[in-house]
Amino acid sequence: MVAHSHQTLPLHADVERVLISRERIAARLDELAARIAGDWEAGGAGEVTLVPILTGSIVFVSDLIRRLPLRLRVHLISVTSYPGKATSSRGATLEVERSSLPASLEGRHVLVVDDIFDSGRTLELATRLLAGLEAASVRSCVLLDKRRPREVTLEPDYVAFEIPDEFIVGYGLDYDGYYRNLPDIVTLKRGVIDPAAEPG
Ligand code: 5GP
Ligand code: MG
Repeated sequence: MVAHSHQTLPLHADVERVLISRERIAARLDELAARIAGDWEAGGAGEVTLVPILTGSIVFVSDLIRRLPLRLRVHLISVTSYPGKATSSRGATLEVERSSLPASLEGRHVLVVDDIFDSGRTLELATRLLAGLEAASVRSCVLLDKRRPREVTLEPDYVAFEIPDEFIVGYGLDYDGYYRNLPDIVTLKRGVIDPAAEPG
């Protein structure tokens, strides 16, 4: 008999502390999904087109959609902002890949979903792209919002948690491509992050 809920992965050795546990995430997603569904029904928007931003939002969006009792479709896009091992997007060039996005979103009510709102540049870029495809409305939802000075005027419509300006991984979020499978949102031990990869 294997205990699946709190089993220890080799990755756990790199964890400094749990910032948000899987239990808190689950409870908060119940509330957030109820709010989104309520707003959508009240607004009479009917169907929702979810646009998750790859790859960091995969775990969040899979948990979120199973809580949304709405008629919905999902189209993926990807925005790459942190090159290689860096933990900050400062000075990085953002690249959008349209993946499974249709050529037009005319008349559709879109909810763009991302893992974390940091500088805000990723969400702003995605929102601009989707609005340009003639979506009837574009709203945004993020799992995490870092409390730090903004680089954009856009504010996400739905936020699950506000967090301090610390680099976190887990629940879909990576460092150098790893740690996405950790079920909790955690910080990493000092020695794990490569100082040579950080911008000035
Ligand atoms: P922004 O464009 O808002 O500065 O950056 C958003 C993107 O940067 C997120 O989608 C995420 O991929 C990445 N990011 C920002 N902060 C963190 C963090 O603390 N941890 C991880 N793993 N990724 C982050
Ligand atoms: Mg991302």
